[in-house]
Amino acid sequence: MKISAVHTHLLDHKLNHAFESASMRFDRRQHCLVEIVCDDGTVGWGECLGPAGPNAAVVKAYTPRLLGRDPRDTEVIWLELYNLLRDQGQRGLTVTALSGIDIALWDIKGKHHGTSVSRLLGGRFREDVKAYATGSFRKDGVDPVSDIDAETAAYVAQGFHAVKIKIGFDVEEDIAVIRAVREAIGPNIRLMIDANHGYDALEACTVGNAVAKYGVDWFEEPVIPEQLSAYRAVRAGQPIPVAGGETWHGRFGMREPLETRAVDIIQPDICGTGGFSEMRRIADMAAINGVRLVPHVWGTGVAIAAGLQFIAALPPDPPRRNGRPPILEFDRTHNPFRQAVLTKPLEHVNGIVAIPDGPGLGIEINRDALEQYRLKD
Ligand SMILES: [Mg+2]
Repeated sequence: MKISAVHTHLLDHKLNHAFESASMRFDRRQHCLVEIVCDDGTVGWGECLGPAGPNAAVVKAYTPRLLGRDPRDTEVIWLELYNLLRDQGQRGLTVTALSGIDIALWDIKGKHHGTSVSRLLGGRFREDVKAYATGSFRKDGVDPVSDIDAETAAYVAQGFHAVKIKIGFDVEEDIAVIRAVREAIGPNIRLMIDANHGYDALEACTVGNAVAKYGVDWFEEPVIPEQLSAYRAVRAGQPIPVAGGETWHGRFGMREPLETRAVDIIQPDICGTGGFSEMRRIADMAAINGVRLVPHVWGTGVAIAAGLQFIAALPPDPPRRNGRPPILEFDRTHNPFRQAVLTKPLEHVNGIVAIPDGPGLGIEINRDALEQYRLKD
């Protein structure tokens, strides 16, 4: 069994209504899928977190090292590709592109053995997972307080048991938004806040201290990801558990946040931090350090499928009777190709998503959708 071709698929949709996090404006939805084809006809799919074009360029740089290789050698290939760009890489696009490749190789390995990736990883602790709705980005010319409380109330009406809202714009306005959302969703729905590193440590502590009374599960990316000492200051200076990690890549990128307890909850993204091969190691590191792991998920159905396979195989920590189940991040912002790329969507029912148990990622790709949303030059 040998790899005969590697393709990237750049998907694109121009939004009629742009939206913003504290650190990024979204005028378009763009994602990069990786397709790896084998000489026996087996095809594997992966996805890279982050900018589509640059990810595709790095995948292309790796491609000569992939052609002719046995796709089942996931560890051998991972190390060789990482070493190839290690001196100028270590984090960023070199690892996000590698992530998409690694996920596609695990998809192939599962299809070859006729079993799901979660079983290859050691077995399935669960067959479904509760999802939390991620939304409430800011929109041009819209009052965030009234807009976001209506949006989050709608998620609750759809059956979600938890919602995550975007803050990090303005301390006073954000506090007003959080208060309004808690009133809108009622006392029994879990609420998380995500600043997308929009604050400094003092602002983050002001917000955390002001809104802890509204029952907030976690405070995500309060400060910029390079400032681990500021993360620790936020942990010490306000009572809400601190989360982060979607921009930290690989086991080396996770080591200091875990060992110095910069976060209470680590959030690696399988499409960004090195694919299944590296996520396994990071999960072990989190468990060793007693830090809770909740995967970050942001992308198409391929990224959701990869996240689901990982979550199925994630051991309960601690492994007590009726242990605390993981949760799945479920992006609710507008993206017409998110589910369209799959022949069978991975949707939620009353806030719960079933985990596919078919071979590999357990999904099939709708090539018509790849064509429909292909990025035009
Ligand atoms: Mg986030």
